[in-house]
Amino acid sequence: MKKSNSCARPSAGGGKVDFGQGIIYKIRITIPLFPLLNGVRIMSMGYVDLHLHTTASDGVLSPSEIVRYAKVKGLQAIAITDHDTIEGCEEGLSEGKKIGFEVIPGIEISAEHSPGSMHILGFFLDIHHPFLNERLAYLQKARAERNPKIVEKLNRLGINITFEEVVKASGGGQVGRPHFANVLLEKEYVRSFQEAFDRFLKKGAPAYVDKLRFTSKEALHFINESKGVAVLAHPNTLGMNGYSELEKLILRLVGEGLKGIEVYYPEHSAAEVAQYKTLAERYGLLMTGGTDYHGIEKNGLDIGVGRGEMKLPYSIVENLKAVRNRSLLGR
Ligand code: AMP
Ligand code: ZN
Ligand code: FE
Ligand code: FE
Repeated sequence: MKKSNSCARPSAGGGKVDFGQGIIYKIRITIPLFPLLNGVRIMSMGYVDLHLHTTASDGVLSPSEIVRYAKVKGLQAIAITDHDTIEGCEEGLSEGKKIGFEVIPGIEISAEHSPGSMHILGFFLDIHHPFLNERLAYLQKARAERNPKIVEKLNRLGINITFEEVVKASGGGQVGRPHFANVLLEKEYVRSFQEAFDRFLKKGAPAYVDKLRFTSKEALHFINESKGVAVLAHPNTLGMNGYSELEKLILRLVGEGLKGIEVYYPEHSAAEVAQYKTLAERYGLLMTGGTDYHGIEKNGLDIGVGRGEMKLPYSIVENLKAVRNRSLLGR
């Protein structure tokens, strides 16, 4: 992996600078390496995207493709955060090494929660950690048992669909409901991807089968054990009723090992962003962001920029690294 090329690493002495992440760094003012910059250290200028899916889960681009695409788009770093799997990380990391682009190995875990859904991101995981791999294998086994049940339910509803067709639609990665939706669309049982969910696949619909989920405590435990930094993804899907309910939940998660909140996300309103920022600042949590780009893009959403509104500075990655290093020291 490429080393951080930031010009703003914290160091002793000098003035204090707020990088907009709620973390105040001290920086040195004179840097002999950059005499032409008049003694002023500049921040790394690039942008990042820390929430992306590949063919290892329900994305359309392979890990190598998404890494190359991110580079072409001029980003400085990305995190690969597939649903419940790290299978795409190795390929993404090695492509990054090959083309000189920083890739962060990550994951997005679905945790038990109601009334909405809770997703937890893990960044900088040690992807070879035995405990992490054992926990993820357990999830995969549960998924493997669930998928034929969805096929069965659809068949009983008069839909001619086979498990093989769904596996083919998954492109060889983990099979999930979006692949069922694509087959239903291809075979013209529905007119849109969304209709497949609404009529058949979503929670409460006739072909829905629940999937095994870890509790937040379990998910946060194995992310931390495998040296990852855990961040609550898109809090607007939690279905929390107001600020104080969300605050209570976040406090519980912090107690279980949460280190940050995904504040910047295409589906967050300005009011939500402000609320999540306040919470992160109040409890000293990292603020991250990402587009949740899946390759196929809905309503003009693209990697790095979302629908044009996202500009996530590289300092987010530096802050994640700082928290990771700090927790490694405390281990
Ligand atoms: P699975 O992990 O197999 O349960 O599939 C979860 C994925 O299905 C999510 O990441 C979404 O991409 C998609 N999904 C879940 N619920 C809906 C919904 N109501 N409408 C559209 N897509 C959905
Ligand atoms: Zn997805
Ligand atoms: Fe998610
Ligand atoms: Fe996602």
